[in-house]
Amino acid sequence: MAERPVAIVTGASRGIGKGIAMELASLGYNVVINYFDFTSDGKPDESRAVETQKEIKALGVECEILRGDVSKAQDRNSLVALAKNTFGRCDLLANNAGVAPSKRLDLLEATEESFDRVMSINLKGPYFLTQQVANWMIEQKKKYPDRRYRIVSTGSISSYTSSPARGEYCVSKAGISMMTKLYADRLAEYGIGVFEVSPGIIATDMTSVVKDRYDKLIAEGLTPIQRWGLPEDIGKVVGAIAEGRLDFSTGQVINVDGGFHLRRL
Ligand code: NAP
Repeated sequence: MAERPVAIVTGASRGIGKGIAMELASLGYNVVINYFDFTSDGKPDESRAVETQKEIKALGVECEILRGDVSKAQDRNSLVALAKNTFGRCDLLANNAGVAPSKRLDLLEATEESFDRVMSINLKGPYFLTQQVANWMIEQKKKYPDRRYRIVSTGSISSYTSSPARGEYCVSKAGISMMTKLYADRLAEYGIGVFEVSPGIIATDMTSVVKDRYDKLIAEGLTPIQRWGLPEDIGKVVGAIAEGRLDFSTGQVINVDGGFHLRRL
């Protein structure tokens, strides 16, 4: 049985998930990484996940990678099975995988198809992965009462900020906020802490398509701290959660947004 704690991080081949996985690895966690890479012509491509795996292993821990769609029950089962069979434990789950709508469409025109896609990946996937891992954590806790178990989900400023050109994304992230409250409440009796990190504008592939627009907004003072956030900014917060520094604060949303959430006058 592995002595190191183990984390499952979804959507960790790149971007924020990679930042989280790297931080956890630097804290000594063995990591199981999920990803769902496709090349631009629709073929599976594991190159980025393999590169991330290499970087994580260079930190001296074990790292397993598995391609899978978090919105599919079978793929979630395979991910949990990989952690069980390889490491026999999971101390931290980071629900991070998420997508923007493939096409930004006004609220008055947006499609059910896009709604279903975004909600399935961004909310249904983490909701049921959390259910599954939480049940496993409860089992583990009975055997190892001294171990600490934690779940953290990546929300967004979009959970409370209206962007009518991607309503389905906003709704999915508002759902993550409620999910965090629900699981924090339900799992407190088992000593499992549940948290949300709420990133602002973070430099990743997801935001690369709107880089010029956000460059301008940041320069004009949209955020009190006038810079793009980095995946490491979120990684550090998840690291603090993993180290147990927030254990009495279950259910908290930690804003990682350069102060975007502040109301200013
Ligand atoms: P990203 O660079 O596009 O990375 C997204 C990650 O999720 C990738 O690893 C991707 O895998 C994975 N993924 C996508 N669909 C998946 C699926 N169906 N099943 C499993 N994995 C899947 O995005 P990011 O900016 O790092 O975003 C990460 C999280 O932060 C998301 O939940 C996003 O909503 C949230 N967020 C981002 C920002 C921001 O400014 N960037 C702000 C607030 C919140 P592939 O490599 O296979 O595509």
